Amino acid sequence: MKEFIIYNPVKIIFGWGVLENCGKEAKNLGKKALIITGKNSTKKTGVLDRVIELLKNNDVQSVVYSNITPNPKTDEVDEAANLGIKENCDFVIGLGGGSAMDAAKGVAIVLKSGGNLWDYVALPSKKAKQIGEVASVMLIPTLAATGSESNPAAVFTNKETQQKAAIYNPAKLYPKVSIVDPSLTVTVPKRQTAEGIIDIIMHVLEEYLTGENDCDLQDRITEGIILTCIENAEKVLQKPDDKNARTNISLASTIALCGLPNSGRSGSWVVHPIEHAITGIYDNIAHGSGIAAVLPAYLRFLGRKKPDKVKQLAIRIFDADEYTDEEELTEVCAKGFEDFISSIGLANDLKDAGVEKAKLTKIADKLIEVSGIPDIIGNKDALMGILKDAFGE
Ligand SMILES: [Zn+2]
Repeated sequence: MKEFIIYNPVKIIFGWGVLENCGKEAKNLGKKALIITGKNSTKKTGVLDRVIELLKNNDVQSVVYSNITPNPKTDEVDEAANLGIKENCDFVIGLGGGSAMDAAKGVAIVLKSGGNLWDYVALPSKKAKQIGEVASVMLIPTLAATGSESNPAAVFTNKETQQKAAIYNPAKLYPKVSIVDPSLTVTVPKRQTAEGIIDIIMHVLEEYLTGENDCDLQDRITEGIILTCIENAEKVLQKPDDKNARTNISLASTIALCGLPNSGRSGSWVVHPIEHAITGIYDNIAHGSGIAAVLPAYLRFLGRKKPDKVKQLAIRIFDADEYTDEEELTEVCAKGFEDFISSIGLANDLKDAGVEKAKLTKIADKLIEVSGIPDIIGNKDALMGILKDAFGE
C-alpha cells in the first residue's frame, strides 16, 4: 500500500429531510447566493423554490441560473459566472445532479478568478491557467451519482472542440458544505437512477481494478459499495420511493469519492476518460450510459492484463467458484455486469447506446487528445480493440 494523506474538508450533512438546514448553513457562506441548476427538474419538483425560501428565511438573497445542460458546457459556466458578477453574488449553490454541481464549481472559479472556464482546463496540448481565489460552494445533490458533493473535481465539455475534460484541485475545489438529502432523489426517473448507480460503481471500480493488490481494506470497502448499489438497485427501481434503498444509494455516492476508498493505491482511471471521449462527441448520451456501454468490454480486456483483480471481483461480487479457470472467471465478471446493466434498463454495449461504428476512431483520437492513452491499455490498437469489442464485434 502506498503512503497517503486524506484531507476532506467538506461538511457533509446527510439524511432524509436535511434540506431544511440549507438556509442556516448558507448564512455562514455569504449574503447573496448564485444558485446553479438545470432547466427543468428542480423547478418541477419544487425543490428550487424550497431552497430559495429557506435562504430567504435566513436573510440570504439569491439569484438563479437555470441553463445548465447535461455534460455541462464551458460557455454555460461562463454565462452563469457573469450573471453572478453582475448581481454581486458572493457564493455559489449547486442544486441538481452532477452537471449542476460540477458547473457550480466552475462558476466559483470564474466568479473570483476571472477569465473563461476553459482557460483553467489542462490538456496535453495546453497548460491550464492557475486558479486564484474561488467562491465558497454549497452542493445539494438531487441525484445519487457523481459524488461531486464530496470531491474536488468537476468535468466540463467544450462544445466547439468536442473535448470533455476534468479540473481536479484538492486545494481549491472541495465544496464547503454538501447537503445530501436522499428524499430529493425519490422523483428521479428510472433511467437516471440506473445511470447514477453504474457511475457510483465505476468510481470505486476504476482504481480497484488497476491499483495495488495489497489494499485489503480498500478492496472490501469497494466491494461493499458495489454490493450496496447492486442490492438496492433492484429495490429502488421497483419502488422509487423506497426510503432505505434511496438512502443507501445516496450514501454510496457520497462515500465512493470522499477519498478513503481510493486511498493508498495508484490505479488508473480508464472507463471514465473513454466515456468522456464518447459523450464529448455524443452530447445526447449520459455519463452513466456511456460507462455502462464500455465496462463489460474493459473487463474482458483486463482479464488478460490484471487477471487477479477480475477474478477477485467475480468471486466476491458474482459468487463464482474460485477454482474455476481464469478465462471463465473473466467471463463470469463481464457477463455479471452485462446482466446487471441490462437488468437496470441500460445498454451494455456502444451500439445499443447509440454510438455509430464510424465514430470509433474519432472517439480514440479524442481520448488521445484530451488525456492520452491510459498506461494499462498501452497503444491505440489496444484501445481500438476495446472500443470494437464494446461496440459488439
Ligand atoms: Zn463518473
